[in-house]
Amino acid sequence: MPLSSKTVAIFGGGIAGASLARRLSPDYPVTLVDPLDYFEVPMSAPRSLVAPNFAEAAIIPFSAALPTVRHIRGRLIEWSADAAKVQEKDGHMSTLSSDVSVLSTGSRFSNPLMRSEQGTLEERKTFYRRFHARLQRAQSVLIVGGGPIGIEVAGELSEAFPDKRVTVLEAGPRILGGTTPELAAHAQRVLAERGVNVIVNERLSGSQSTDDVFAPGGETTTDRGRTLSYDLLLWCIGGQPNTAFMRGRHLELLDSAGRIKVDPTLRVCGQRSVFALGDITDLAENKMAWHVQGQVKVAEANIRSVLEGRSDALKRYKAKTNDPTMVVTLGSRAGASQLPGIGLVTTGWLNRMAKSAHMLVPKYRKTLGVPKADVLIHQTGIRQTAAAGDR
Ligand SMILES: Cc1cc2nc3c(=O)[nH]c(=O)nc-3n(C[C@H](O)[C@H](O)[C@H](O)COP(=O)(O)OP(=O)(O)OC[C@H]3O[C@@H](n4cnc5c(N)ncnc54)[C@H](O)[C@@H]3O)c2cc1C
Repeated sequence: MPLSSKTVAIFGGGIAGASLARRLSPDYPVTLVDPLDYFEVPMSAPRSLVAPNFAEAAIIPFSAALPTVRHIRGRLIEWSADAAKVQEKDGHMSTLSSDVSVLSTGSRFSNPLMRSEQGTLEERKTFYRRFHARLQRAQSVLIVGGGPIGIEVAGELSEAFPDKRVTVLEAGPRILGGTTPELAAHAQRVLAERGVNVIVNERLSGSQSTDDVFAPGGETTTDRGRTLSYDLLLWCIGGQPNTAFMRGRHLELLDSAGRIKVDPTLRVCGQRSVFALGDITDLAENKMAWHVQGQVKVAEANIRSVLEGRSDALKRYKAKTNDPTMVVTLGSRAGASQLPGIGLVTTGWLNRMAKSAHMLVPKYRKTLGVPKADVLIHQTGIRQTAAAGDR
């Protein structure tokens, strides 16, 4: 039983929303609105594409992670200061009001490769199995986007399926533009050694669908006239902020990129009891879980203060502007990390420990208080999965 009767509504149960719900729910009645019935460790998706069993540990039902939180399966569709309009799974519209509300609806991707917009835990696992079967039939894979997602997917594919022809197409002057050139150069070297073809400064000129992961293979051209054929085309372009609910009545609270304007206390600008966290904020820092965890701590303290009538003593969050910290995996055994105070780390075992072996699944299972799971899938494990399916 929560100690207080003051209520908190959280919209979006990803890294920010689920962690915050876990921290606040012992003391306050918390309602979580999310169209999914599960939390998926976002970093795990590239691995689950090549090893669907990996999703068993990486996808955690909200009922296990947040047993005392009231979960409404639905989507915030319009926000205003007095009430939030929610469309529930069955289409039914309802409004939700609370003493404090938190907007943490994260990023939207062009297709379900990295994130489902709806559905159940079982449907997500089925997606990975179906994708894996499709992947096995493909001899050549074209990855569009050379940011962290595209490069991690290329790393997984080239490790698990060394015989497939993998191409990465990046519109910018280099891959991994959000971190240091040294890290990018290392990643490109490793991929080149595995036969991955990386093309930069070119973009697709055709009008391929970005949303159908299972579309048939074909041929396409770039804006420089290069023809690329593929059996499977994967759009791995970055996410966009999920903030459509703000456009109806509060466009002035969005910046030009559609991100929500927050003040240093992480409250939505001009709002006393509405917070925004994670990828949807206009904080000038890379949109990363690494930074979100610092935001969650500040927001938790401030939410408690607001609920206890101490709004004059709020903590301030300092955005990690120009912080190149990043850990990029290149399959389960390799990676490259740009770490604070250390610099570039390319040593295999260090990258395996940091992320490549487990994709941070144990960390987030711990954060959400669910039991440990054996998620260390070694290279041989992945190869066996692929080989078994090939037969
Ligand atoms: C493949 C991949 C690898 C990554 N690797 C790293 C890494 O190694 N290190 C790192 O620091 N960061 C990494 N990131 C980035 C990190 O995952 C994000 O920065 C982080 O998840 C953002 O957290 P969030 O809570 O803002 O949003 P999310 O985690 O995206 O969660 C948003 C939630 O909101 C829900 N939602 C969406 N719309 C609505 C709505 N209208 N109403 C209600 N709910 C809604 C969604 O269903 C989802 O559950 C990676 C991301 C990806 C995709």
